[in-house]
Amino acid sequence: MVLLNVPATVVALGLFFFLDDLTGFEITYVLELPKPFSFIFTWFAAVPLIVWLAQSLTKLVVKDSLILKGLCPNCGTENVSFFGTILSISDGGTANTLKCSNCGTPLEYNSKTRLITLPEGTQALFRGIY
Ligand SMILES: [Zn+2]
Repeated sequence: MVLLNVPATVVALGLFFFLDDLTGFEITYVLELPKPFSFIFTWFAAVPLIVWLAQSLTKLVVKDSLILKGLCPNCGTENVSFFGTILSISDGGTANTLKCSNCGTPLEYNSKTRLITLPEGTQALFRGIY
């Protein structure tokens, strides 16, 4: 979730400075108060506000997100699949099929069983390994 929060934090920071602009840089004025007031304001008002904004935005944009990370059964390369709803567009299902970024083997990620399987018909790829 840390990674998912990054774009929202940028948006929240942008909003924060936009708000600052709207209020005629009053927030900046407060932030430029002599120490320790500016320090207290920054860390106890501005930062929690930005973090809260970022988390709310992330929840708004990404719902029920699940990221499955696993090794390709064929070559062992780590592949990541995202499950969830982004901007109310659902990926529609519990299984994602993607291709291994290294060897191109089709991999089926199941968000319910949290297993990575090879879709039927591709088992032939295992021949010759053992
Ligand atoms: Zn692979």
